[in-house]
Amino acid sequence: MKLVRYGTKGREKPGLIDAQGKLRDLSAHCDTIGWDELSPTGQKRLAAINPATLPLVRGKPRFGVPFTGISKIIGVGLNYRDHATETGAAIPAEPVLFMKATTAINGPFDDIRLPRRSKMTDWEAELGLVIGREARYVSEEKAMSYLAGFVTFHDVSERDFQKNRGGSWDKGKGCDTFAPIGPWLVTRDEIRDPQNLRVWLEVNGERRQDSSTSQMIFPCAHLISYISQFMTLMPGDVVCTGTPSGVGLGMNPPQFLKAGDVVRLGVDGLGEQCQKVVVA
Ligand code: ZN
Repeated sequence: MKLVRYGTKGREKPGLIDAQGKLRDLSAHCDTIGWDELSPTGQKRLAAINPATLPLVRGKPRFGVPFTGISKIIGVGLNYRDHATETGAAIPAEPVLFMKATTAINGPFDDIRLPRRSKMTDWEAELGLVIGREARYVSEEKAMSYLAGFVTFHDVSERDFQKNRGGSWDKGKGCDTFAPIGPWLVTRDEIRDPQNLRVWLEVNGERRQDSSTSQMIFPCAHLISYISQFMTLMPGDVVCTGTPSGVGLGMNPPQFLKAGDVVRLGVDGLGEQCQKVVVA
């Protein structure tokens, strides 16, 4: 299933994208796509509905973040060899983790707001993992069974705040609007091999990132298992799995986002995002 939330901000309705790519309304079956709908039981219940029986949605409504109930976003740093090299960082021996504030959560087509005093706001296209049930000390073998599905994730990052302002990376990762998610939550059954998905990004129509999740240093199952040794992953939690090479910091000379820029990005099978960059 491709589950979505659509409509004006804060008043989104649940829906799904059918096999013909049409948006259909799920309001008669649930109030939102939340913890219940992300759970294995909830997913079974939704999968039993014949999409043809759901009302078609007219027009072109806004897409919001495709699910609610996100208690945390865990980022994985330097998880692609080529990206570690371009940023001048060493290949990590264990996954590098950081947190993105939940106030950074943003719709897939909503504006990215440059924070005050930002000079180095950068892009990072990523595969996002969405947890479906509580995961604590899970094995790598069982890790993927804790997922509800996958999303396209934009890990917007302010490099100066991240690297030059002391302490952790979190200052440059959690700014408002820095976590566009969606447009679709694609359930696990639809993605045969999450380690073989193209990840790409364009700025003003120019291709900047073009790689595959096959290039990850630590694959998805390892990340879920690893993170669950340090904290409980709750339904709705998101793990953004790292970005491939082609970020602005790695360009010669480095390039960063400015007001008026348009960023498009996507992951195979998970849908595309598009954001305009504006001044906060
Ligand atoms: Zn990232």
